[in-house]
Amino acid sequence: MAGIYIHIPFCRQACHYCDFHFSTNLSKQEEIVDAIALEIEERKAYLKEDVQTIYFGGGTPSLLSSAQLEKLIKAVLDNYNVSETAEITLEANPEDLTNGHAKSIHQLGVNRLSIGIQTFDEQKLQWMNRIHSSDEARTAFEYARSAGFQNISLDLIYAIPDHNREAWQQDLNQITKMNPEHISLYGLTIEDKTVFGKWERENKLIQVPEDEAAAQYLFAIDFLKSKGYRQYEVSNFGKDGCHSRHNHAYWAGVPYIGVGPGAHSFDGAFTRSFNVRNNAKYLKAINEKLEYTEKEQLSEIQRINERILTELRTANGIDLKALAKLSGANIAEIHSGFLKQMADQNLIELTNDNLRLLPQGFLVADEVALRLFFSEGE
Ligand code: SF4
Repeated sequence: MAGIYIHIPFCRQACHYCDFHFSTNLSKQEEIVDAIALEIEERKAYLKEDVQTIYFGGGTPSLLSSAQLEKLIKAVLDNYNVSETAEITLEANPEDLTNGHAKSIHQLGVNRLSIGIQTFDEQKLQWMNRIHSSDEARTAFEYARSAGFQNISLDLIYAIPDHNREAWQQDLNQITKMNPEHISLYGLTIEDKTVFGKWERENKLIQVPEDEAAAQYLFAIDFLKSKGYRQYEVSNFGKDGCHSRHNHAYWAGVPYIGVGPGAHSFDGAFTRSFNVRNNAKYLKAINEKLEYTEKEQLSEIQRINERILTELRTANGIDLKALAKLSGANIAEIHSGFLKQMADQNLIELTNDNLRLLPQGFLVADEVALRLFFSEGE
């Protein structure tokens, strides 16, 4: 089992909170698509296993024309063993999903869409520098449905400044009324090299207090549960059978190849590689056959710690017996005092075989994981 991630490094405009890798200069779009198609072909030896998931992320993959998407999908199908039941996801922004484009994306074999809605509040959409309106978001969803998509994920952002609890509840109400199969929730984080980062430094933006952000998140967990969405990871909620297979593959540590500028790959064992995060350098390197990836060798301890972090972030939690077999140590015994404290505060549930976070615990998942990490030489 293996996965392919295809990074499309373009956006029509920059959202004020985003620090992903993308360019708003679309003039090199065709050349980059050709370069990615070439990379897909040239690196085919990287994956020997059957490909079960393909994920177009970005950036904004939906701004590619159907001919460009077809070129990339063909490159994958021509060079890899893609399972007939593969999950093929494409991230889309509402402004790109016209009736015609939604249909052609579906006809190309994409069977899962992930649409960036973020909020239905018109003013907040503009404040975040999103292009689309809330009406466009609803229409895009309808177009996707009528094009035949039966597996659609919608993204929402919580903890938006001056977007109070009531406004957040309205966002959740509206999104569940649309009845998507999957919902992802992200707390607004302020990254340094973004417009919001600058505004924060200039005191033009005050972040939502932590307790309010936590309250919005916990409200969402209960609300989505009442509407039939099971939380299977910190940020992800799905109806039965509609979890992201691509994400599950990442968490399970299966090999995947990431192509395109800024994408990274994992060989399923101890090596990660990172493509150069710059469109011009990527293009030059592919065309002139220069090196464009950097490698990172993971130690046994790093792999174990990654497993602790990813399993802890899932609703199933950490399989303690499997982890003990791998690491030779029982973390429940090593950290018994700390875990008792966490359990007393209703942050975790601990049994002989399993350690999992409770809803309040998801708020501190990374901090808990850090406490459980092994040190080199331990
Ligand atoms: S949030 Fe999405 S659309 Fe907005 S800049 Fe980032 S990648 Fe582009």
